[in-house]
Amino acid sequence: MSKKSKRGNSPGVGRRGFITAATVAGAAALAPPLAAAATPRAPDAVAKVAAPPTRVAEGTMSEVELAVRDLVIANRILAHENVVDAYGHVSIRHPLHPERYLLSWSRSPEQIEAGDIVEFTLGGEPAGGDQRPPYLERFIHGAIYAARPDVHAVVHAHSVEVLPFSISATKLRPVIHDGAFIGAEVPVWDIAEKFGHETDLLVSNMAQGRDLARRLGGNQMALMRGHGFVAAAASLYEVVRLAVYAPRNAHVLQAALLMGGKIKPLSKGEITARVEGPTLQPNTAAAQRAWAYWAQRAGVADLLPPRPTK
Ligand SMILES: [Zn+2]
Repeated sequence: MSKKSKRGNSPGVGRRGFITAATVAGAAALAPPLAAAATPRAPDAVAKVAAPPTRVAEGTMSEVELAVRDLVIANRILAHENVVDAYGHVSIRHPLHPERYLLSWSRSPEQIEAGDIVEFTLGGEPAGGDQRPPYLERFIHGAIYAARPDVHAVVHAHSVEVLPFSISATKLRPVIHDGAFIGAEVPVWDIAEKFGHETDLLVSNMAQGRDLARRLGGNQMALMRGHGFVAAAASLYEVVRLAVYAPRNAHVLQAALLMGGKIKPLSKGEITARVEGPTLQPNTAAAQRAWAYWAQRAGVADLLPPRPTK
């Protein structure tokens, strides 16, 4: 059975008009309710640096509904591209309330639908009193959003390709053009440095989350020793792109290291040109093409906005 046909059997998710009753019920569970969310608060310092929406808004959907939709797509993409499996998660900063973020309750990304998305405070508490069990490691997200006003989307995953670089002295560096998105520096956070040698390696409280965010600093990605990585970006599209290409970059680097000899990573100028150049900014056709491609592969193309007409 294809992924698409599996999705087609999911209650409450239909073609195009995917905001069905079940979806709206799920979105309504977010706090504050959508009626309140329709009146944005005065922008503050955080809102001023907000990235433009990842996708073109459709007239019938609120900003929160669009964010929830894109977060569902992001979950499915990361699952299909093997960035996450049963574990790992992706969040987005709340589009109207920057001191909160949207994240699924404790479901695997492959299975997430709009009704699974919960609104959290930066401290990791469900803002609307949702009773469903949250991810243990949700503290990663709030700690990074608190430390980084420029960040609007976060991924945490355990991709095997990057793990060797979390336990060895060999640095993970960008070596292919799409690897540029990981940035010039990828620091390694070792939980044992501050929390000793008796932890289970998981980020299970805010103190650990804040320590990880400190090690991430102003970078796009940090490895977590013997555990995985965090990625942070200005938009959902950018963080998904980073999370998809980081393992590929790590794979190429590992292969080159096995061949021996000197490695030639991207230069800082090449990284800047790739990341900040006009070609792949989130609202370009080239960027949207990747998002649509990944969504199609993940079986959620029916959640995408309609194609532009000539
Ligand atoms: Zn983890």
